Amino acid sequence: MKIHEYQAKQLLQQYGVAVPEGIVAETPEAAAAAFDALKAPLAVVKAQVHAGGRGKGVAVGPDDDRVQALEIASGRKPRPEGMPRGVQLVRSRDEARAAAASLLGKTLITYQTGLAGAPINKVLVTVGHEIARELYLGLAVDRALKKPVLMASTEGGVEIEKVAAETPEKIHREPIDVEHGLHDFKVRKVNKALGFSGETAKKSATFLKNFVRMFLETDASLAEINPLIVTGSGDVLALDGKLNFDDNALFRHPEIASLLDPAEEDPNELRAAKAGLSYVQLDGDIACLVNGAGLAMSTMDLIKYHGGEPANFLDVGGGANKEQVLEGFRILLSSPKVKAVLVNIFGGIMRCDVIAAALLAAYDELDFRVPLVVRLEGTNVEQGMKMLAESGRQIIVAKGLTDAAQKVVAAARNAA
Ligand code: GDP
Ligand code: MG
Repeated sequence: MKIHEYQAKQLLQQYGVAVPEGIVAETPEAAAAAFDALKAPLAVVKAQVHAGGRGKGVAVGPDDDRVQALEIASGRKPRPEGMPRGVQLVRSRDEARAAAASLLGKTLITYQTGLAGAPINKVLVTVGHEIARELYLGLAVDRALKKPVLMASTEGGVEIEKVAAETPEKIHREPIDVEHGLHDFKVRKVNKALGFSGETAKKSATFLKNFVRMFLETDASLAEINPLIVTGSGDVLALDGKLNFDDNALFRHPEIASLLDPAEEDPNELRAAKAGLSYVQLDGDIACLVNGAGLAMSTMDLIKYHGGEPANFLDVGGGANKEQVLEGFRILLSSPKVKAVLVNIFGGIMRCDVIAAALLAAYDELDFRVPLVVRLEGTNVEQGMKMLAESGRQIIVAKGLTDAAQKVVAAARNAA
């Protein structure tokens, strides 16, 4: 799960990580008032969306050209004067109001959002700081090491993906011991890599230890501070903050789970999650209802292998009861792009005749306007297939994976 920068900064602050003072605003007037309240000569108005690249991003309205906006946000085209960025420096309450007005209610396009963009419903107004040095800090789980790794680089403020690809030696990597957090000798190594000494190194030590503690205690999966800055007076501050959390650990952190912003989520994915289903929206026209993530993956591979394009990944989990199948179909059929549906279910613990009954009940309750192909395998498969074949409903029964994939690809082609 992702959260917004303002939420990430509140969490970092709770853990003793230094961040600039800031106030969230949902209207231009509130942003102007926030500027006054911060009592600083310079402030920054920042679009709150779940994406990076906001500084170079472009805020667009309904009539603006998104293709051109994406070209500009990706640095492939020069930026015309006055095109609103997702991060704007302001020096008065009027400038703060104008900056917020240029963002709120718009869609932010960055190199990370693609053409879809992200809705700007809030801005964060923060105290603006003079930047003496811009650095990078990240924490991610390294699968090969089976540990979180702290990444630090002097190349802050730029796209770290580029640094990693072109000059990987400029990223210092420090594995973290999950039992003990960040050891002092590792703090010294990171400080050296970042060129910190004296008072700045002391401030950085507190910063780094608390940053790692926050990551471990909240079950974060990714944390990024880009840029980490050293101010003119030698303070170390997180100017930006991006945090992702492990969905499977959210039950341990209700206060973090409550930070979810539904406006940033795919409505179908939210709906599926409520019903205990895993759903991922894809670009094709063949919907798949499958039990188990491994089977879902191989089903999508097969559809592709036979020349089709999956419209989604819908996993009803180990079992498949009537309510889940019903809600799964409702979600699948709500998309106008879907031209055919493939049900591929392995009856292990669940018997195939029970699944067949659930499918028939769901079929009768819903308005099936597209062909339905069903492949069942497992316990009581003959009985289940017979029930479907003799049901009198327009269900295409498939025998085996290849047959199922070929039939659904053909059905989608005919419908298209
Ligand atoms: P991102 O583009 O989504 O990663 O958003 P950031 O929060 O990193 O902001 C983008 C850029 O705005 C930063 O890299 C800085 O160069 C600039 N910026 C943000 N806050 C300040 C500030 O307080 N002072 C100055 N001078 N620049 C800032
Ligand atoms: Mg940033």
